[in-house]
Amino acid sequence: MSRKAEPFRIKMVESISMISREERIKALQEAGYNPFSLKSKDVYIDLLTDSGTGAMSDHQWAALMLGDEAYAGSKSFFKIKDAVQDIFGYKYVLPTHQGRGAEQVLFPHLIKHKGQYVLGNMHFDTTMAWIELNGAIPVNLVIDEAFDTETPHPFKGNFDLNKLESFIEEKGPENIAFIIITVTCNSAGGQPVSMENVREVRRIADKYGIVVNFDSARFAENAYFIKKREAGYENKRIKEIVGEMYAMGDCFTMSAKKDAIVNMGGLIGIKSDRGLYQAASSTCVPMEGFVTYGGLSGRDMEALAVGLQEGLDVDYLESRIGQVEYLGEELRKRGIPIQWPVGGHAVFVDAGKFLPHIPPEQFPAQALTNELYIESGVRAVEVGSLLLGRDPETGEQKKAGVDFMRLTIPRRVYTDRHMDVVVDALVKIWERRDQVKGLEFTYEPKVLRHFLCRLKPID
Ligand SMILES: *Cc1c(COP(=O)(O)O)cnc(C)c1O
Repeated sequence: MSRKAEPFRIKMVESISMISREERIKALQEAGYNPFSLKSKDVYIDLLTDSGTGAMSDHQWAALMLGDEAYAGSKSFFKIKDAVQDIFGYKYVLPTHQGRGAEQVLFPHLIKHKGQYVLGNMHFDTTMAWIELNGAIPVNLVIDEAFDTETPHPFKGNFDLNKLESFIEEKGPENIAFIIITVTCNSAGGQPVSMENVREVRRIADKYGIVVNFDSARFAENAYFIKKREAGYENKRIKEIVGEMYAMGDCFTMSAKKDAIVNMGGLIGIKSDRGLYQAASSTCVPMEGFVTYGGLSGRDMEALAVGLQEGLDVDYLESRIGQVEYLGEELRKRGIPIQWPVGGHAVFVDAGKFLPHIPPEQFPAQALTNELYIESGVRAVEVGSLLLGRDPETGEQKKAGVDFMRLTIPRRVYTDRHMDVVVDALVKIWERRDQVKGLEFTYEPKVLRHFLCRLKPID
């Protein structure tokens, strides 16, 4: 496969090394068979997440020195405000410490009463948690193709528009708190949403008078897929595409730790609703911090203002998404079942198909993730039944569409040789896959259990 080389060279390096197989087995046991509890020093290639793990550029590091640490009215805040205005066209901005900070500040003002529904293509885990903590009910309305890992579809993150409209009709628009479009759709495999789909969601929202919020962690990657895959966008700049998309939203919550390539940071953007901005501001002050820093230092805000623009560079996006595609293609060539086509930030391995002898309630994707760590020191993450958790009402295990193991690629950090290590390890496990065992809980927290639970293999 020919693809453009990285549009950067490496100026600083960080050593990584691999501990022995015996040590890895012991480390995993001590971690309760939950890779979230592994120490990073015991991990060789860390593909747990692309969140906050990107490499900042020379421009971002230089910008840190310009940080204005004023409590109120920091110059650095206004750089973020200008960048948000320039890229998204939204008037109001609140910085937050990360994406979930934005969710905790904004959502209480979008949810009018308990029992309202929040309609998404597919909610991210912390997003789902903040909806539930505010007494509302998250509903996923992504197209069925999202769960069919083998059938190609250019926009597997799209809403099923019929389902969306019927749901609103059935429950009544007064019972819908807001619609949330997650770009790209992380939980479905980093799959993009098309411009046409966004336009239709907007049309339905207008018909029923419902607010549209963008969950914006990967706004630039989504725009890149629109440029590559949607007719009429091939000659548009990424920034134009982002502008067109966000013109159809009312507000956004953003984890800046992804496409804005900072190690910490988040944002709320509000297009024009002054009342909503004022309400969110009063929540921001006690929860995150004063409205011109919201949990970030001035230097963090400087790096964020630069990163928002850097993330839009089409050459960078091509090399980044090209690397994810490379990993996906190498795995597919060897018969390993993955979500196809690959998404923007990760390759999602279909662990249900990889380990068909392990039922969902024994967490096949977690079992595969553990096996990958033992084989190679590579840390991936489960995105399936374990993450999904139980229905808060009935306590029943929710049903994952697919049990995925996510191989998440940090931005500007690893080389293709690192990707090859992952491929080799998965091939070895593929050859002895029938020996991998399912898992059961020894400790199960009530909320967001996947982060802190402990497990053991079932003999
Ligand atoms: C990461 C992420 C969040 C939460 O952001 P944090 O910065 O981790 O708090 C919300 N939604 C999506 C789609 C994400 O990827």
